[in-house]
Amino acid sequence: MERSTIVRVHEGLHARPATRFVKLAKGFESDVELVKDGKAVSAKSSVKLMLLAVKENQEVTVRANGADAIEALEALIGYLENPRAGLDDEAEAQSPANDAGQEAAPASEPAPAAPDGANRLRGVAASEGFAIGPAFAHFPPDIAGQGRMLRAEEIEAEIDRFRAAVGAVQARMDYALAQDSLSAGDRGIVAALRDIAADDSLTGEAEGLIKGGNDAVSAVITAASNIAAEFSAVDDHYLNARADDVHAVGRQICLVLLGQDDVSLENIPEGAILIADDIGAWDLARAPLKRIGGVVCGHGGATSHIAIIARSHGIPAVLGLGGQVNALRTARDVALDGNAGHVIIDPDEATRADFAGRVEAAAKERAGLTIFKTVTPKLADGRIIEVAANIGSLEEIEAAQEAGAMGIGLFRTELLFMRHMHLPSEDMQAETYAALTKAFAPYPVIVRTLDIGGDKPIAGIEFPDEENPFLGWRGIRMCLDRPDIFKRQLRALLRAAVHGNIKVMLPMVSDISEVRQTRVLIDECTVELKAEGVPHASFDLGVMIETPAAVLIAPALAKEVAFFSIGTNDLTQYIMAADRLNPTVAKLNDVTNPAVMSAIEMTAKAGVAAGIMVGMCGEAAGRPDLIATFVKMGLTELSMSPASIQRAKKAIMAMAAEG
Ligand code: PEP
Ligand code: MG
Repeated sequence: MERSTIVRVHEGLHARPATRFVKLAKGFESDVELVKDGKAVSAKSSVKLMLLAVKENQEVTVRANGADAIEALEALIGYLENPRAGLDDEAEAQSPANDAGQEAAPASEPAPAAPDGANRLRGVAASEGFAIGPAFAHFPPDIAGQGRMLRAEEIEAEIDRFRAAVGAVQARMDYALAQDSLSAGDRGIVAALRDIAADDSLTGEAEGLIKGGNDAVSAVITAASNIAAEFSAVDDHYLNARADDVHAVGRQICLVLLGQDDVSLENIPEGAILIADDIGAWDLARAPLKRIGGVVCGHGGATSHIAIIARSHGIPAVLGLGGQVNALRTARDVALDGNAGHVIIDPDEATRADFAGRVEAAAKERAGLTIFKTVTPKLADGRIIEVAANIGSLEEIEAAQEAGAMGIGLFRTELLFMRHMHLPSEDMQAETYAALTKAFAPYPVIVRTLDIGGDKPIAGIEFPDEENPFLGWRGIRMCLDRPDIFKRQLRALLRAAVHGNIKVMLPMVSDISEVRQTRVLIDECTVELKAEGVPHASFDLGVMIETPAAVLIAPALAKEVAFFSIGTNDLTQYIMAADRLNPTVAKLNDVTNPAVMSAIEMTAKAGVAAGIMVGMCGEAAGRPDLIATFVKMGLTELSMSPASIQRAKKAIMAMAAEG
């Protein structure tokens, strides 16, 4: 018995809908299959369903065979046609997520930097400060099987051992899910992994291999690799990232089989220097950041998300070491200079003393800066310069407030999108933006609309393969092509504006029509909200100036918007044609280059002439050596990592004192 239909599940049968579909299917005795383009898979396996890559608006057939086939068809077709029926929004919003492969794009493979000496390495200075401490090498080891075939009489016991290991991993995940302390993001990740651990695609294939004489560890490695390869081969960024989930689950099962514990950031000792080849921004964000003394990575650049997280928590970091990072695997102690980008392996006594002195001096400087926390920096002419914070999640509010931020000059909304397996709902976004604005009222909070591109894909948006993602379909370009996504964010912002001083800015603007089209959408959203009787308020609309085109049309743009915020990270890379993530061109990627400084000055002039606020939210805004120049150009708002705020206030006060 079978029936065909058009799938109405938003963004297709991705993990959460696939899990829900499987749950429904498992409620029936009948064998149930889902067929797409002639390929049939069991509807009782979420891994197989995901691999079928069913997209919204595609035609599929549900096939059922058994006593309750009619009921099964009815329920499953009903779900595909109307997936939200009978579901609460909460469940939808709490969907699982795994950011592996979805967050900050890996930096381009950096060329090895020249070592300065036998035990001294040079990388990218990504987060300032000095640190010295025990090395904590985070290089999860590769796991290997026994490499011998089992004797026939050993097979049954090996299958039992394997099943017990799978059970232990599932139980561990269930235990984690039951903890109240688990954040929604973490819960999503664990739930997605548990689905895979419970799925018979992985366990079935592994058991088959054990029956063929493979030891359990080898069987799990092979089965996980096969399934991961299938996920990698699908033409869908989101499903590609699921390959990492399969490997992660396989790894957990193997570790139980081997009686080993995984390397975890949880156990990092106080003051240790974290050494890794690469580390996901999300992994780092969840690590006990207060205990980490410094970060050293093979990948990453000065404006990669790892660098941004490190800076926002005041953790010194040297990134982009390339293959040199391997020299640190066996280090006992590491000293790092986040200002110069130096890392010293097992420093000698003199170096130790030197670094200990610097760490102490930095701590003293920090202590001396705390008096600036509550200062409102004013120039001699009485003009107030707002020193605001750049953050990417509600978890960072406290660090910004602690530092004395006068509002938020850049809220990067992409982290909100990357943390979830689905696009975040309007309600969830409205709540987030409202919480943010309430936390900083009466100061303004500037929310940047979704700034994402093919280099850091997110669940629910299909990006084309692009030769040059940094010059491609990203930021405002993507949003205007996807009004369904963009309007959901704009509606959420209009709703949140009721609660405080919200301003909205558009990223990657390069043409005036992008602002005008956005205004049309904002007007549409306002009319809709009014008709629906939903409370809302208007907000100031501004643009980021981060493309050379925006600089050149700044006088015209200034007539259309309420403010400018200069994004020096991108502006520098585009003006200098030097990839911001590529350490080999780091020298060119320099905001102080006269070409970039003149672009900043042109922008400031255009904004000042039009009487609009000109601010800066690129990393240069926090540089005490440049602040006076920016302020003299006419900038009145500087937004930066919380760790830079007090020093910036001090620099502005010094200007005022000079008159
Ligand atoms: C910038 O480009 O300067 C900026 C602030 O945005 P992001 O670093 O998020 O691209
Ligand atoms: Mg930018």
